Amino acid sequence: MAEPFNRFKLSAAERSFRSRIAQLASGQWFLRGTLSDRSSKCGKPNCHCASGETHRSVYLVQSRAGKLRQICVPKAWQDRVRQAVSDYQQMQRLIEEVSELEWTRLQERKP
Ligand SMILES: [Zn+2]
Repeated sequence: MAEPFNRFKLSAAERSFRSRIAQLASGQWFLRGTLSDRSSKCGKPNCHCASGETHRSVYLVQSRAGKLRQICVPKAWQDRVRQAVSDYQQMQRLIEEVSELEWTRLQERKP
């Protein structure tokens, strides 16, 4: 029979992971993937990129259903996307911590 969830039985450490998760979940964007800064030449002979100052762009690269996909991140979106990528990673680390604690409870048969 499943023990009902009781947050008062959690350790202080686990409560703190969980409240950080709740904080992030309610107030942040999330985006999974890796940012890639690229520079390129457009090929136009008179463009500034022909003489060395290349065009810079940022792409978000993500693996989905076993395939890589990528999307260009416009300048106006870059701060938001960098933050969303970083918050996604932090959320993942926090959930992993909570999962690990539950693994230990299962292993020790201590609900
Ligand atoms: Zn160019």
